[in-house]
Amino acid sequence: MKLLQFSLAFFMALPGMGQLNTELFNDYEDYSEKSITTRRFKYEDIMSLIDKLGNDFKVKQVGTSVEGRAIKLITYGNGPVNVLMWSQMHGDETTATRAIMDVFLWLQADDQFNDIRDKIKSSITWHFIPMLNPDGASRFTRRNHFGIDINRDALRLQTPEGRTLKRVRDSLQADWGFNLHDQGRGTSVEDKKPATISLLAPAFDVSKSINEKRGDAMQLTKLMFDQITQYIPGQMAIYDDTFEPRAFGDNIQKWGTRTILIESGGYEDDYEKQEIRRLNFVLLITAANAIANNNYEKIPVTDYNKIPSNGDGRIRELILRNVQYEGLLRDVAFDRSEVDSEDFRNYYAQGFVTDLGDLSTSQSFFTLDAKDYEVLPGKVYEKELADVNALNALDLEQSLKEGYTDFVVLTGYDPFTMKQRVHVHSKKPATNETLRMGGNPSLLFKRNGEIAYAVINGCLIKL
Ligand SMILES: [Zn+2]
Repeated sequence: MKLLQFSLAFFMALPGMGQLNTELFNDYEDYSEKSITTRRFKYEDIMSLIDKLGNDFKVKQVGTSVEGRAIKLITYGNGPVNVLMWSQMHGDETTATRAIMDVFLWLQADDQFNDIRDKIKSSITWHFIPMLNPDGASRFTRRNHFGIDINRDALRLQTPEGRTLKRVRDSLQADWGFNLHDQGRGTSVEDKKPATISLLAPAFDVSKSINEKRGDAMQLTKLMFDQITQYIPGQMAIYDDTFEPRAFGDNIQKWGTRTILIESGGYEDDYEKQEIRRLNFVLLITAANAIANNNYEKIPVTDYNKIPSNGDGRIRELILRNVQYEGLLRDVAFDRSEVDSEDFRNYYAQGFVTDLGDLSTSQSFFTLDAKDYEVLPGKVYEKELADVNALNALDLEQSLKEGYTDFVVLTGYDPFTMKQRVHVHSKKPATNETLRMGGNPSLLFKRNGEIAYAVINGCLIKL
Protein backbone atom coordinates (compact mmCIF):
# COMPACT_ATOMS: atom_id res chain seq x y z
CA MET A 1 0.00 0.00 0.00
CA LYS A 2 1.21 3.49 -0.77
CA LEU A 3 1.50 6.21 1.78
CA LEU A 4 -1.14 8.89 1.39
CA GLN A 5 -0.28 12.19 -0.19
CA PHE A 6 -0.57 15.10 2.18
CA SER A 7 -1.66 18.27 0.47
CA LEU A 8 -2.82 20.36 3.41
CA ALA A 9 -0.38 22.41 5.40
CA PHE A 10 -0.50 21.48 9.07
CA PHE A 11 0.50 23.16 12.26
CA MET A 12 4.24 23.25 12.74
CA ALA A 13 6.27 24.62 15.59
CA LEU A 14 8.87 25.74 13.07
CA PRO A 15 7.45 27.86 10.26
CA GLY A 16 8.64 26.83 6.82
CA MET A 17 9.93 23.41 7.83
CA GLY A 18 6.61 21.66 7.52
CA GLN A 19 6.14 22.93 4.03
CA LEU A 20 9.50 21.59 2.89
CA ASN A 21 8.90 18.05 4.04
CA THR A 22 5.38 18.07 2.56
CA GLU A 23 6.73 19.20 -0.80
CA LEU A 24 9.56 16.67 -0.75
CA PHE A 25 7.15 13.92 0.19
CA ASN A 26 4.58 14.80 -2.46
CA ASP A 27 7.11 15.47 -5.23
CA TYR A 28 9.21 12.40 -4.44
CA GLU A 29 8.49 10.66 -7.76
CA ASP A 30 10.23 13.52 -9.58
CA TYR A 31 13.53 12.58 -7.91
CA SER A 32 13.44 8.85 -7.22
CA GLU A 33 16.14 6.81 -8.95
CA LYS A 34 14.01 4.56 -11.13
CA SER A 35 16.66 1.94 -11.92
CA ILE A 36 16.43 0.46 -8.40
CA THR A 37 13.05 -0.82 -7.32
CA THR A 38 13.75 -3.59 -4.80
CA ARG A 39 15.88 -4.19 -1.72
CA ARG A 40 18.21 -6.46 -3.66
CA PHE A 41 20.71 -4.56 -5.75
CA LYS A 42 24.48 -4.57 -5.82
CA TYR A 43 27.59 -2.47 -5.76
CA GLU A 44 27.82 -2.22 -9.57
CA ASP A 45 24.26 -0.88 -9.73
CA ILE A 46 25.03 2.10 -7.53
CA MET A 47 28.55 2.66 -8.88
CA SER A 48 27.13 3.21 -12.37
CA LEU A 49 24.90 5.91 -10.85
CA ILE A 50 27.76 7.48 -8.90
CA ASP A 51 29.87 7.56 -12.09
CA LYS A 52 27.19 9.73 -13.69
CA LEU A 53 27.11 12.40 -10.97
CA GLY A 54 27.56 15.96 -12.18
CA ASN A 55 30.19 18.59 -11.43
CA ASP A 56 28.63 19.58 -8.13
CA PHE A 57 29.95 16.33 -6.64
CA LYS A 58 33.42 15.17 -5.76
CA VAL A 59 33.90 11.39 -5.79
CA LYS A 60 36.94 9.89 -4.11
CA GLN A 61 37.97 6.35 -3.24
CA VAL A 62 38.56 6.25 0.51
CA GLY A 63 38.95 2.52 1.08
CA THR A 64 38.74 -0.98 -0.34
CA SER A 65 36.61 -3.88 0.87
CA VAL A 66 38.14 -7.28 1.63
CA GLU A 67 37.15 -8.50 -1.84
CA GLY A 68 38.63 -5.46 -3.53
CA ARG A 69 35.62 -3.23 -4.12
CA ALA A 70 36.35 0.49 -3.95
CA ILE A 71 34.56 2.30 -1.12
CA LYS A 72 33.74 5.80 -2.28
CA LEU A 73 33.11 9.09 -0.56
CA ILE A 74 30.83 11.46 -2.40
CA THR A 75 30.91 15.11 -1.38
CA TYR A 76 28.54 17.97 -2.17
CA GLY A 77 28.71 21.59 -1.05
CA ASN A 78 31.42 23.71 0.53
CA GLY A 79 30.01 24.98 3.81
CA PRO A 80 31.87 25.02 7.12
CA VAL A 81 29.85 22.20 8.75
CA ASN A 82 30.85 18.64 7.81
CA VAL A 83 27.91 16.23 7.63
CA LEU A 84 28.76 12.56 7.00
CA MET A 85 26.13 9.96 6.12
CA TRP A 86 27.03 6.29 5.65
CA SER A 87 24.74 3.44 4.69
CA GLN A 88 24.74 -0.34 4.36
CA MET A 89 27.42 -1.15 6.89
CA HIS A 90 25.18 -4.21 7.03
CA GLY A 91 25.08 -5.59 3.50
CA ASP A 92 21.39 -6.52 3.47
CA GLU A 93 20.15 -3.17 4.85
CA THR A 94 19.63 -1.24 1.64
CA THR A 95 16.81 1.26 2.19
CA ALA A 96 19.00 4.28 2.93
CA THR A 97 21.41 3.55 0.07
CA ARG A 98 18.46 3.84 -2.31
CA ALA A 99 17.35 7.06 -0.60
CA ILE A 100 20.86 8.50 -1.01
CA MET A 101 20.63 7.81 -4.77
CA ASP A 102 17.35 9.75 -4.71
CA VAL A 103 18.96 12.60 -2.75
CA PHE A 104 21.68 12.79 -5.44
CA LEU A 105 19.00 13.28 -8.11
CA TRP A 106 17.29 15.90 -5.97
CA LEU A 107 20.57 17.77 -5.47
CA GLN A 108 21.11 17.86 -9.25
CA ALA A 109 17.66 19.21 -10.11
CA ASP A 110 16.89 22.79 -11.08
CA ASP A 111 13.50 23.73 -9.68
CA GLN A 112 11.52 25.30 -6.84
CA PHE A 113 13.97 23.87 -4.29
CA ASN A 114 16.94 25.88 -5.64
CA ASP A 115 17.03 28.26 -2.65
CA ILE A 116 17.08 25.35 -0.24
CA ARG A 117 19.88 23.64 -2.16
CA ASP A 118 21.90 26.85 -2.30
CA LYS A 119 21.57 27.28 1.44
CA ILE A 120 22.61 23.67 2.05
CA LYS A 121 25.52 23.99 -0.37
CA SER A 122 26.92 27.10 1.28
CA SER A 123 26.26 26.06 4.89
CA ILE A 124 27.35 22.45 5.01
CA THR A 125 29.68 20.08 3.22
CA TRP A 126 27.61 16.97 2.75
CA HIS A 127 29.53 13.68 2.54
CA PHE A 128 28.12 10.25 1.74
CA ILE A 129 29.51 6.73 1.92
CA PRO A 130 26.75 4.66 0.32
CA MET A 131 27.19 0.90 0.78
CA LEU A 132 30.07 0.69 3.25
CA ASN A 133 29.90 -3.13 3.06
CA PRO A 134 29.77 -3.95 -0.68
CA ASP A 135 30.96 -7.54 -0.13
CA GLY A 136 28.06 -8.30 2.21
CA ALA A 137 25.74 -6.56 -0.26
CA SER A 138 26.91 -8.86 -3.06
CA ARG A 139 25.51 -11.82 -1.09
CA PHE A 140 22.66 -9.83 0.51
CA THR A 141 24.00 -10.60 3.95
CA ARG A 142 24.70 -8.56 7.07
CA ARG A 143 28.37 -9.27 7.68
CA ASN A 144 31.56 -8.68 5.71
CA HIS A 145 33.69 -11.21 3.81
CA PHE A 146 35.17 -12.67 7.00
CA GLY A 147 31.80 -12.91 8.73
CA ILE A 148 32.53 -9.95 10.99
CA ASP A 149 29.70 -7.60 11.92
CA ILE A 150 31.32 -4.27 11.04
CA ASN A 151 29.12 -2.60 13.62
CA ARG A 152 30.93 -4.50 16.38
CA ASP A 153 34.37 -3.59 15.03
CA ALA A 154 34.65 0.05 16.09
CA LEU A 155 37.26 -0.74 18.76
CA ARG A 156 39.34 -3.53 17.19
CA LEU A 157 39.10 -2.15 13.65
CA GLN A 158 39.88 -5.51 12.06
CA THR A 159 37.76 -4.87 8.96
CA PRO A 160 38.97 -2.58 6.15
CA GLU A 161 35.39 -1.33 5.90
CA GLY A 162 35.32 -0.29 9.57
CA ARG A 163 38.79 1.25 9.30
CA THR A 164 37.57 3.26 6.29
CA LEU A 165 34.67 4.70 8.24
CA LYS A 166 36.92 5.61 11.18
CA ARG A 167 39.53 7.19 8.90
CA VAL A 168 36.95 9.27 7.04
CA ARG A 169 35.29 10.46 10.26
CA ASP A 170 38.66 11.40 11.73
CA SER A 171 39.95 13.15 8.63
CA LEU A 172 36.78 15.23 8.29
CA GLN A 173 36.37 15.70 12.04
CA ALA A 174 32.73 15.32 11.05
CA ASP A 175 30.40 17.65 12.91
CA TRP A 176 27.43 15.39 12.22
CA GLY A 177 27.21 11.67 11.50
CA PHE A 178 24.20 9.73 10.22
CA ASN A 179 24.38 5.97 10.68
CA LEU A 180 21.84 4.45 8.29
CA HIS A 181 20.44 0.97 8.88
CA ASP A 182 17.41 -1.30 8.53
CA GLN A 183 15.77 -3.04 11.48
CA GLY A 184 13.58 -6.15 11.31
CA ARG A 185 10.11 -5.75 9.86
CA GLY A 186 8.72 -7.03 13.12
CA THR A 187 10.35 -4.39 15.32
CA SER A 188 7.64 -2.62 17.30
CA VAL A 189 6.82 0.71 18.86
CA GLU A 190 6.06 -0.17 22.49
CA ASP A 191 4.88 -3.63 21.35
CA LYS A 192 1.82 -2.04 19.71
CA LYS A 193 2.62 -1.01 16.15
CA PRO A 194 5.38 -1.62 13.62
CA ALA A 195 8.39 0.67 14.05
CA THR A 196 8.52 1.88 10.45
CA ILE A 197 11.27 4.35 11.33
CA SER A 198 13.33 4.35 14.51
CA LEU A 199 15.77 7.10 15.41
CA LEU A 200 18.45 7.40 18.06
CA ALA A 201 21.04 9.83 19.31
CA PRO A 202 23.27 7.02 20.60
CA ALA A 203 24.71 7.09 24.09
CA PHE A 204 28.48 7.50 24.39
CA ASP A 205 28.69 5.93 27.84
CA VAL A 206 26.87 3.39 30.00
CA SER A 207 25.09 6.04 32.04
CA LYS A 208 23.75 7.65 28.85
CA SER A 209 25.21 11.05 29.71
CA ILE A 210 24.18 14.08 27.71
CA ASN A 211 26.95 16.47 26.70
CA GLU A 212 26.48 19.45 24.41
CA LYS A 213 27.01 17.52 21.20
CA ARG A 214 24.76 14.60 22.07
CA GLY A 215 22.22 17.20 23.17
CA ASP A 216 22.38 18.74 19.67
CA ALA A 217 21.84 15.29 18.16
CA MET A 218 18.83 14.75 20.45
CA GLN A 219 17.35 18.09 19.38
CA LEU A 220 17.74 17.26 15.70
CA THR A 221 16.36 13.77 16.26
CA LYS A 222 13.21 15.29 17.77
CA LEU A 223 12.93 17.68 14.81
CA MET A 224 13.22 14.76 12.38
CA PHE A 225 10.58 12.86 14.34
CA ASP A 226 8.21 15.85 14.23
CA GLN A 227 8.66 16.23 10.49
CA ILE A 228 7.92 12.63 9.57
CA THR A 229 5.54 11.26 12.17
CA GLN A 230 2.46 12.58 10.31
CA TYR A 231 3.07 10.09 7.49
CA ILE A 232 3.27 7.06 9.78
CA PRO A 233 1.34 7.99 12.96
CA GLY A 234 2.35 5.83 15.93
CA GLN A 235 5.01 4.07 13.87
CA MET A 236 8.14 5.98 14.85
CA ALA A 237 10.25 5.27 17.90
CA ILE A 238 13.56 5.68 19.63
CA TYR A 239 15.82 2.67 19.05
CA ASP A 240 17.25 0.80 22.05
CA ASP A 241 19.61 3.34 23.65
CA THR A 242 21.73 0.90 25.67
CA PHE A 243 25.39 1.83 25.22
CA GLU A 244 27.13 -0.72 22.98
CA PRO A 245 30.89 -0.23 23.47
CA ARG A 246 31.80 -1.97 20.18
CA ALA A 247 29.36 -0.19 17.86
CA PHE A 248 30.20 2.63 15.49
CA GLY A 249 27.27 4.91 16.29
CA ASP A 250 28.07 4.94 19.99
CA ASN A 251 31.79 5.47 19.39
CA ILE A 252 31.38 8.13 16.74
CA GLN A 253 29.23 10.03 19.22
CA LYS A 254 32.02 9.48 21.77
CA TRP A 255 34.68 10.69 19.32
CA GLY A 256 32.87 14.03 19.16
CA THR A 257 30.60 13.78 16.11
CA ARG A 258 26.93 14.55 16.75
CA THR A 259 25.50 11.18 15.71
CA ILE A 260 22.03 10.08 14.69
CA LEU A 261 20.95 6.54 13.84
CA ILE A 262 18.10 5.93 11.39
CA GLU A 263 16.62 2.43 11.31
CA SER A 264 14.12 1.53 8.59
CA GLY A 265 11.66 -1.14 9.71
CA GLY A 266 8.38 -2.49 8.37
CA TYR A 267 5.33 -0.88 6.80
CA GLU A 268 2.15 -2.71 5.73
CA ASP A 269 2.85 -4.79 2.60
CA ASP A 270 5.82 -2.64 1.59
CA TYR A 271 8.13 -5.65 1.48
CA GLU A 272 10.59 -3.90 -0.83
CA LYS A 273 10.59 -0.85 1.46
CA GLN A 274 9.98 1.58 -1.38
CA GLU A 275 7.65 3.71 0.74
CA ILE A 276 10.12 3.67 3.63
CA ARG A 277 12.82 4.69 1.15
CA ARG A 278 10.69 7.72 0.35
CA LEU A 279 10.51 8.60 4.06
CA ASN A 280 14.31 8.26 4.24
CA PHE A 281 14.62 10.66 1.31
CA VAL A 282 12.54 13.24 3.16
CA LEU A 283 14.39 12.59 6.43
CA LEU A 284 17.90 13.01 4.99
CA ILE A 285 17.12 16.28 3.24
CA THR A 286 15.13 17.53 6.23
CA ALA A 287 18.13 16.83 8.47
CA ALA A 288 20.61 18.54 6.14
CA ASN A 289 18.35 21.55 5.78
CA ALA A 290 17.82 21.78 9.56
CA ILE A 291 21.60 21.71 10.12
CA ALA A 292 22.13 24.33 7.41
CA ASN A 293 19.61 26.62 9.10
CA ASN A 294 20.26 25.65 12.74
CA ASN A 295 16.55 24.89 13.01
CA TYR A 296 17.06 22.27 15.70
CA GLU A 297 18.53 24.68 18.25
CA LYS A 298 15.21 25.93 19.66
CA ILE A 299 13.94 22.44 20.46
CA PRO A 300 14.26 21.57 24.17
CA VAL A 301 16.65 18.62 24.58
CA THR A 302 14.20 17.00 27.01
CA ASP A 303 11.55 16.84 24.24
CA TYR A 304 13.57 13.93 22.86
CA ASN A 305 12.17 11.86 25.72
CA LYS A 306 8.62 12.41 24.45
CA ILE A 307 9.30 10.09 21.51
CA PRO A 308 8.03 6.56 22.24
CA SER A 309 10.52 3.67 22.34
CA ASN A 310 11.00 0.49 20.38
CA GLY A 311 9.33 -2.43 22.16
CA ASP A 312 10.73 -5.86 22.97
CA GLY A 313 7.86 -7.76 21.37
CA ARG A 314 7.81 -8.32 17.64
CA ILE A 315 4.99 -7.53 15.25
CA ARG A 316 3.94 -10.76 13.54
CA GLU A 317 3.27 -10.94 9.83
CA LEU A 318 -0.16 -12.55 10.25
CA ILE A 319 -2.21 -13.52 13.29
CA LEU A 320 -5.28 -15.70 12.97
CA ARG A 321 -7.32 -15.17 16.12
CA ASN A 322 -9.75 -17.61 17.75
CA VAL A 323 -8.94 -20.56 15.52
CA GLN A 324 -11.03 -23.58 16.56
CA TYR A 325 -9.04 -26.54 15.17
CA GLU A 326 -8.03 -30.01 16.36
CA GLY A 327 -10.53 -29.61 19.16
CA LEU A 328 -8.99 -26.58 20.84
CA LEU A 329 -9.00 -22.80 20.62
CA ARG A 330 -5.77 -21.11 19.56
CA ASP A 331 -4.43 -17.96 17.98
CA VAL A 332 -1.90 -18.71 15.26
CA ALA A 333 0.96 -16.45 14.17
CA PHE A 334 2.76 -16.76 10.86
CA ASP A 335 5.97 -15.03 9.83
CA ARG A 336 7.90 -15.15 6.58
CA SER A 337 11.46 -15.95 5.60
CA GLU A 338 13.19 -15.39 2.29
CA VAL A 339 14.91 -17.99 0.14
CA ASP A 340 17.69 -16.36 -1.90
CA SER A 341 18.24 -16.94 -5.60
CA GLU A 342 21.74 -18.02 -6.57
CA ASP A 343 22.84 -14.49 -7.47
CA PHE A 344 20.99 -13.00 -4.45
CA ARG A 345 19.10 -10.59 -6.68
CA ASN A 346 15.80 -12.36 -6.20
CA TYR A 347 14.00 -14.37 -3.55
CA TYR A 348 10.78 -16.06 -2.74
CA ALA A 349 9.04 -15.87 0.61
CA GLN A 350 8.02 -18.82 2.75
CA GLY A 351 5.51 -18.65 5.56
CA PHE A 352 5.90 -20.56 8.79
CA VAL A 353 4.10 -20.76 12.12
CA THR A 354 6.04 -18.81 14.75
CA ASP A 355 3.61 -18.83 17.66
CA LEU A 356 0.51 -20.65 18.84
CA GLY A 357 -1.88 -20.29 21.77
CA ASP A 358 -3.18 -17.19 23.50
CA LEU A 359 -1.66 -14.37 21.45
CA SER A 360 -4.06 -11.71 22.71
CA THR A 361 -1.10 -9.51 23.68
CA SER A 362 0.60 -9.81 20.28
CA GLN A 363 0.11 -7.59 17.23
CA SER A 364 0.51 -8.22 13.52
CA PHE A 365 0.59 -6.55 10.11
CA PHE A 366 -2.39 -8.64 8.98
CA THR A 367 -5.12 -10.24 11.10
CA LEU A 368 -8.16 -12.44 10.68
CA ASP A 369 -10.58 -13.11 13.52
CA ALA A 370 -11.68 -16.67 12.78
CA LYS A 371 -14.31 -16.73 15.56
CA ASP A 372 -17.23 -17.20 13.19
CA TYR A 373 -15.47 -19.49 10.74
CA GLU A 374 -15.03 -23.19 10.42
CA VAL A 375 -11.29 -23.78 9.95
CA LEU A 376 -10.24 -26.63 7.68
CA PRO A 377 -6.96 -27.78 6.15
CA GLY A 378 -6.43 -26.83 2.52
CA LYS A 379 -6.67 -29.67 0.01
CA VAL A 380 -3.92 -30.98 -2.25
CA TYR A 381 -5.12 -31.11 -5.87
CA GLU A 382 -5.45 -34.83 -6.60
CA LYS A 383 -3.90 -34.82 -10.05
CA GLU A 384 -0.13 -34.34 -10.25
CA LEU A 385 0.63 -31.81 -12.98
CA ALA A 386 3.38 -32.58 -15.48
CA ASP A 387 4.56 -29.00 -15.91
CA VAL A 388 3.79 -25.31 -15.50
CA ASN A 389 1.58 -25.23 -18.57
CA ALA A 390 -0.72 -27.74 -16.93
CA LEU A 391 -0.90 -25.53 -13.83
CA ASN A 392 -1.60 -22.41 -15.88
CA ALA A 393 -4.36 -24.24 -17.74
CA LEU A 394 -6.31 -24.56 -14.50
CA ASP A 395 -8.70 -21.92 -13.18
CA LEU A 396 -6.82 -21.40 -9.93
CA GLU A 397 -9.33 -18.95 -8.48
CA GLN A 398 -12.10 -21.48 -8.96
CA SER A 399 -9.90 -24.26 -7.55
CA LEU A 400 -9.23 -22.13 -4.47
CA LYS A 401 -12.96 -21.65 -3.96
CA GLU A 402 -13.26 -25.42 -4.06
CA GLY A 403 -10.62 -25.66 -1.34
CA TYR A 404 -7.58 -26.65 -3.42
CA THR A 405 -4.64 -24.74 -2.00
CA ASP A 406 -1.71 -27.03 -2.82
CA PHE A 407 -0.62 -28.33 -6.23
CA VAL A 408 2.07 -30.75 -7.31
CA VAL A 409 3.90 -29.54 -10.44
CA LEU A 410 6.52 -32.12 -11.41
CA THR A 411 8.77 -29.95 -13.61
CA GLY A 412 9.52 -26.39 -14.55
CA TYR A 413 8.01 -24.37 -11.72
CA ASP A 414 10.40 -21.56 -10.77
CA PRO A 415 9.31 -19.97 -7.48
CA PHE A 416 11.61 -16.98 -8.08
CA THR A 417 9.78 -15.83 -11.18
CA MET A 418 6.38 -17.53 -10.94
CA LYS A 419 4.61 -16.09 -7.96
CA GLN A 420 1.36 -18.05 -7.80
CA ARG A 421 -0.98 -17.51 -4.89
CA VAL A 422 -1.37 -21.27 -4.45
CA HIS A 423 1.27 -23.44 -2.81
CA VAL A 424 3.24 -25.32 -5.47
CA HIS A 425 5.23 -28.43 -4.58
CA SER A 426 7.62 -30.43 -6.76
CA LYS A 427 6.48 -33.71 -5.21
CA LYS A 428 3.50 -34.82 -3.18
CA PRO A 429 3.69 -33.04 0.19
CA ALA A 430 3.34 -34.93 3.45
CA THR A 431 -0.19 -34.50 4.75
CA ASN A 432 0.00 -31.49 6.98
CA GLU A 433 -3.29 -31.17 8.77
CA THR A 434 -1.86 -30.18 12.11
CA LEU A 435 -0.91 -26.75 13.38
CA ARG A 436 2.58 -26.91 14.82
CA MET A 437 5.47 -24.53 15.35
CA GLY A 438 7.57 -24.15 12.21
CA GLY A 439 4.91 -25.66 9.97
CA ASN A 440 3.48 -24.03 6.88
CA PRO A 441 -0.03 -25.46 6.61
CA SER A 442 -2.61 -24.17 4.13
CA LEU A 443 -5.89 -23.32 5.86
CA LEU A 444 -9.44 -22.57 4.75
CA PHE A 445 -12.00 -20.41 6.55
CA LYS A 446 -15.57 -21.36 5.82
CA ARG A 447 -18.80 -19.56 6.69
CA ASN A 448 -22.34 -20.31 5.49
CA GLY A 449 -20.97 -23.13 3.36
CA GLU A 450 -18.59 -20.84 1.44
CA ILE A 451 -14.83 -20.53 1.71
CA ALA A 452 -14.28 -16.86 2.53
CA TYR A 453 -10.55 -16.84 3.21
CA ALA A 454 -7.53 -19.02 2.70
CA VAL A 455 -4.11 -18.86 4.29
CA ILE A 456 -1.45 -20.12 1.91
CA ASN A 457 2.25 -19.89 2.55
CA GLY A 458 1.56 -17.53 5.46
CA CYS A 459 -0.47 -15.09 3.33
CA LEU A 460 -4.08 -14.26 4.00
CA ILE A 461 -6.17 -14.44 0.81
CA LYS A 462 -9.72 -13.15 0.58
CA LEU A 463 -11.80 -15.20 -1.82
ZN1 LIG B 1 22.23 -2.57 10.67
